[in-house]
Amino acid sequence: PETVTVQELANRMAERGANVIKALMKMGVMATITQSIDADTAELVVEEFGHKAKRVADSDIEIGLVAPQDDADKLTSRAPVVTVMGHVDHGKTSLLDALRQTDVVSGEAGGITQHIGAYQVTRPSGQKITFIDTPGHAAFTAMRARGAKVTDIVILVVAADDGIMPQTVEAIRHAKAAEVPIVVAVNKIDKPDADPNRVRTELLNHDIQVEEMGGEVLSVEVSAKQKLNLDKLEEAILLQSELLDLKANPERSAEGTVIEAKMEKGRGSIATILVTRGTLRVGDVFVAGKEWGRVRAMVDERGQRIDEAGPAVPVEVLGFAGTPDAGDDFVVVEDEARAREVAEYRQRKEREALAVKSARGGSSMEQLFA
Ligand code: GDP
Ligand code: MG
Repeated sequence: PETVTVQELANRMAERGANVIKALMKMGVMATITQSIDADTAELVVEEFGHKAKRVADSDIEIGLVAPQDDADKLTSRAPVVTVMGHVDHGKTSLLDALRQTDVVSGEAGGITQHIGAYQVTRPSGQKITFIDTPGHAAFTAMRARGAKVTDIVILVVAADDGIMPQTVEAIRHAKAAEVPIVVAVNKIDKPDADPNRVRTELLNHDIQVEEMGGEVLSVEVSAKQKLNLDKLEEAILLQSELLDLKANPERSAEGTVIEAKMEKGRGSIATILVTRGTLRVGDVFVAGKEWGRVRAMVDERGQRIDEAGPAVPVEVLGFAGTPDAGDDFVVVEDEARAREVAEYRQRKEREALAVKSARGGSSMEQLFA
């Protein structure tokens, strides 16, 4: 049977829970805020408040949430989004730090200093590249498990003095499974025992043929430590990006992905959003996974307040009612009622799924002790 909790009904009407309880009492129905009432009763309450009732099946709630594909003539080029992967100690963090310093617009602001989970650099040519600032396979796979495909290109870092190691192989596997092209960064070429040729040869064993080996995979020799060839690496990224022909419509309400999220004392729940299409603005109301909110402020990777963020721009968003999860979708919706409706629906679905799971767990425990 269709039911709705008093709280949910109140939220959907944007009325106070206490007033809904009072209205129910007048109708002779005693219910607390967390109790469920049937659809017929709910409809009467809705009319009592002067609203028009419209019953929607659960499955209808998410329909239309994500906008259909944009018309081709609305699309404009966007920056590539890049993730750095590779074996431990091969220089992922060092490379991300070095690339951060290639940004030319930081100037007075003192550079890209905030670690918000992603940053965007502007090259002297004006072209931009977005880097996901959390190296590692866990983040990549966690996002992919949630259906989020944020990465356009994987930078595979391989230390020239160490060669292909287990996590290098793992990274290759992840990138291939996600069908994301790889650009190889042969790192630590400043070291006396560096052997970039060995790296290129070993890569052949893993189905990666770099250009020097007659293949098509771009590869660049770099030193994160001495900041050698970082411009060449960025050029390779942009070349790969051109082949991918990355585009998005900036002129629509924003959609994106949660890159990371946390609870901060005094600031509330904060999340870094990577906008995938549209433009996000202060004041926008949104749903992010099972949470919702209204953009109270946005801060970029330089710690500067900004008013809007377009496609491929990462931005720290304040104004969440709760903390979402990395990899959650982020969608701007028309109003608070819609945002609450979707968030509550998703929360309820999760509660139900958990209940089913624990019920199943319970029975298997019984079997265990039978
Ligand atoms: P990660 O585990 O992949 O993030 O690797 P790190 O960036 O933490 O680097 C591991 C070690 O390698 C650190 O001691 C770095 O200073 C060093 N390292 C990173 N890149 C280079 C490089 O280009 N040349 C040299 N000589 N050392 C490097
Ligand atoms: Mg590291």
